Amino acid sequence: NQIDPSVAEKLSNVRVGFVGAGRMAQAIVKGFTNDGIVKAQNIWASARTKATLNKVSAELGINVSQSNREVAEHSDILVLSVKPQVMDSVLAELSDLTDPSKLVVSVAAGVTLDHLQSRLLPDSRVIRLMPNTPILANAGASVYCVGKAAKPEDGPLIEALFKSVGTCDYLPENLMDAATGLSGSGPAFILEAIDAMTNAGVHQGLPRPLAMRLATQTVYGTGRLVLESGRHPAELRDAITSPGGTTITGLSELEARGFRTALWQAVNAAANRSAELG
Ligand code: NAD
Repeated sequence: NQIDPSVAEKLSNVRVGFVGAGRMAQAIVKGFTNDGIVKAQNIWASARTKATLNKVSAELGINVSQSNREVAEHSDILVLSVKPQVMDSVLAELSDLTDPSKLVVSVAAGVTLDHLQSRLLPDSRVIRLMPNTPILANAGASVYCVGKAAKPEDGPLIEALFKSVGTCDYLPENLMDAATGLSGSGPAFILEAIDAMTNAGVHQGLPRPLAMRLATQTVYGTGRLVLESGRHPAELRDAITSPGGTTITGLSELEARGFRTALWQAVNAAANRSAELG
């Protein structure tokens, strides 16, 4: 995950605040600090409970506060990483602090740029971003769109920041819900597959740790194969499916049980839910 040296220089002093120090914020902080792209001492985070703050401060070495306003005051980039349902109360609390000296980045599913902008100052610089948790492993997939008062360099800066922990693509806002259903929620769908394949391996007599490693490595390796070969998944699948063999026998079972349809509908349902939250 190479980053342009001039951008790295710019980010080395940037102060990043997280309002809401939950799973997504922690994944992003770990990704940024593992890479050294943002210094832990330049990061602030707030949460509801002292227990979360103590854990985050001990594990990540960042600054914590129970006050969202204090976090905002310490930030050049302010990431709003609370659940969509609490976003409005956070926006009401912080609206007067979001002057154009700060860049506000919302990672909340479904919350639109218009919605964010209407509750902040009219000239607030806002970006809507949809990350995913593999950011923790430096292999995230993020997409973002840009609010009307953002500076031309804001989108590229956030893109470079999130590219340091995976991929990051600009997307027109009308496709954000689609990406939320696919890459935002997608890790959970793949984790279901890893867990189910592990259990099946145990059912067949494999020791559980080995079954889990084989299932996980199979998903990881297959993803890398698709990325690195640039070939279509169907072509790669056909190449390992011999007539009358084991793989086609397994595939016929997936076909009979609606595996492709189930995944397709899972992405659709998650995308629709994201649109509902907006
Ligand atoms: P979470 O429940 O783990 O974290 C939410 C955090 O917000 C908690 O630490 C909680 O203490 C804090 N909080 C609640 N009310 C607050 C308030 N008023 N002020 C400050 N902090 C408050 O949730 P999460 O999974 O981290 O999700 C956070 C956001 O990230 C959501 O909007 C979600 O749509 C988005 N997101 C999550 C994922 C994911 O995989 N988890 C992926 C993409 C986007």
